[in-house]
Amino acid sequence: MSMNRREFLEGSSKVLSASLLAGGAAGVAAAGAAADVPKPGKKYRLIATEEAFSIPEQADEFRQVANFLHTNPDLDMWRGFFSPDAGAPPILRRLLDLEGERIQIMDQAGVDMHLLSLTSPGVQMFQTDAATSIAATANDRLAEVIKKHPTRFTGLGTFAPQDPKRAAKEIDRAMNQLKLNGMIVNSHTNSEYLDDTKFWPIFEALVASNAALYIHPRNMPDPCSFMTHAAVNLAGAMWGFQMETGLHAMRMIVAGVFDQFPTLKVVLGHMGEALPYWLYRIDYMYNSYTRRNGKLKKKPSQYVKDNILITTSGMNTHAVLKYCHEVLGPDNIMFAIDYPYQETFEAAAFMNSAPLPEADVEKIAHGNAEKIFHIAAK
Ligand code: MN
Repeated sequence: MSMNRREFLEGSSKVLSASLLAGGAAGVAAAGAAADVPKPGKKYRLIATEEAFSIPEQADEFRQVANFLHTNPDLDMWRGFFSPDAGAPPILRRLLDLEGERIQIMDQAGVDMHLLSLTSPGVQMFQTDAATSIAATANDRLAEVIKKHPTRFTGLGTFAPQDPKRAAKEIDRAMNQLKLNGMIVNSHTNSEYLDDTKFWPIFEALVASNAALYIHPRNMPDPCSFMTHAAVNLAGAMWGFQMETGLHAMRMIVAGVFDQFPTLKVVLGHMGEALPYWLYRIDYMYNSYTRRNGKLKKKPSQYVKDNILITTSGMNTHAVLKYCHEVLGPDNIMFAIDYPYQETFEAAAFMNSAPLPEADVEKIAHGNAEKIFHIAAK
């Protein structure tokens, strides 16, 4: 390793103090505020379910990988952090911080709890042994911080799909020894998707531990040139992430993963990565392509309703919330912010002012998360 953990920590604490000197508490407030959004008072217990963190070991490994994967778009953000003119990158500072600024912003916005997860793409770009070991370290670190702040933090465990058998063991350890609340994966691993049966020991372990699997986006394995528009990169979070993650869920549906594992729960962010919008056509074309002889036990849309929950991460739009509420019902939607990539204050205001029956907003704001992620109700 070109940079050991101590050097990295020292580097990031220098960054942290420099930025606090520059911005101070006012900087925190300004970074969280969106001037044009009304801020209704806190109304609901808010459990935010897609909230990213990092550990120095992950960041350091990304620095190594970035040295030889020069053009991989999943490394763009990390390359920015490590560039000599990066100054004080607030995203990296906020990812590495668990107990300072993060809790301060949660308090200011009235967010009760973060369900934490190791930021994308987790350990999935690393060599198998490093990936497996960094996942375990991240899970240990997560368990420690939850133990210290049990009313503010819960968390999703990480695993390395590169080795499905060891991944299954880590899922068991994370759920049953560390008592984490579910697991997360960042879409494909080395261009492979979980519908491949070699990954199915992972589903067995998830089902055995009653662990929901959050499928979080990352860049497509091979973004075609059409997606890199001269004006802006469409392969990233602006559009491509949603396509990639929706595709992953569709691959699992058509492969029959949910017929084999009918109790498996999958969580998709960003209001369901567009799937709720397309249900009719998905069913229609499935029937058409298979000449109504598809091998699935149910219509594809039924798996979206029965096995998938969606979150509001990064989609603070009441019209879309009302649509998803109508199509999927109040039990399949959960609140999320996508800290530190999107706005906490805006997301909290969006949830507190949701134009839905209060009993349903209670479910979306916290009740469904308590159920699916085994979080104590207050
Ligand atoms: Mn996210």
